[in-house]
Amino acid sequence: MEKKVSRIGVLTSGGDSPGMNAAIRAVVRTGIYYGLEVYGIMRGYQGLIENDIFKMESRSVANIIQRGGTILKTARCKVFHTPEGRKQAYEVLGSHGIDGLVIIGGDGSFRGAVEFSNEYDIPCIGLAGTIDKDIFGTDFTIGFDTAVNTAIEAIDKIRDTADAHDRLFIVEVMGRDAGYIALYSGIGTGAEHILVPEQKTDIKAVVASLKEKERRKKLVNIIVVAEGDEFGGANKVAEVIKQELPNAETRVCILGHIQRGGAPSSMDRLIASRMGYHAVECLLEGRHNVFVGILNNRMNYVPLNQVHKKKGTIGQEWMKIVKILAS
Ligand code: ADP
Repeated sequence: MEKKVSRIGVLTSGGDSPGMNAAIRAVVRTGIYYGLEVYGIMRGYQGLIENDIFKMESRSVANIIQRGGTILKTARCKVFHTPEGRKQAYEVLGSHGIDGLVIIGGDGSFRGAVEFSNEYDIPCIGLAGTIDKDIFGTDFTIGFDTAVNTAIEAIDKIRDTADAHDRLFIVEVMGRDAGYIALYSGIGTGAEHILVPEQKTDIKAVVASLKEKERRKKLVNIIVVAEGDEFGGANKVAEVIKQELPNAETRVCILGHIQRGGAPSSMDRLIASRMGYHAVECLLEGRHNVFVGILNNRMNYVPLNQVHKKKGTIGQEWMKIVKILAS
């Protein structure tokens, strides 16, 4: 028989993403609704190991659904990679009587949860909090939609100034392994080129296309580059373009951390609330060591040990759409 869960912990770990607070709120309030005690664990696995834990009430999560960042803070924790670190984490949980964990983070945090749940009988439920949308098994990750909207707002502004001066802008957005922010924000702003890690960048073709545009006096161009593009980031692309198109007024803009912050979009608030609710249901129903995804508008529960990064899944068709729409 499954052990009944009565006290659960919630933590945010790894890279932060807007909407994590909405997820924490949903976990806390659903847990309390079902009569569980809910404990907030500060700074991810680091705070767990250091016993930085407090009991949460319904009011603890008042007025946070609209806030970016995470009230529980987040961290990267080297010690959790070691068996000793995880043993310490287990003992701390035991000292509070916590018998279930909700981990809001990316695939790294999920890998940590797999190690932990292999060694100790503490059920773990993952919620995908990452702006990169780089996890298989879910159409959404908490924070992605907000990050795309932030990038779109910024690129729209860049296009205004590009247009005023007839400039060529190379805008770098986040995405070390996945190009979804670049793809979505690029399409949403009518970017002339989008360079993503999933597709080999044909820089010669990009240059040829820009030269052709120069000939027909189309001087305002936006190239959106994911930071993890295999050719290199925006600066690397700019180097080549400046050499090949010396008359173009080329500028680089790296959007950086603004993409992680800000009030979560309606979509992120919604999916975080839905996923947080289902995380608690999973713990109660004995559906353990899974992450809660949404596929085709249905909940999708993927065993944590089967989670892997989505790479190489932006197909040629997307690139064809980009090309046709930006001509
Ligand atoms: P993200 O969750 O955003 O992908 P990281 O990859 O930095 O971020 O992972 C967050 C934390 O998860 C790490 O700092 C570490 O504490 C833990 N972690 C990641 N991978 C493992 C692993 N293989 N074993 C144990 N803990 C891990």
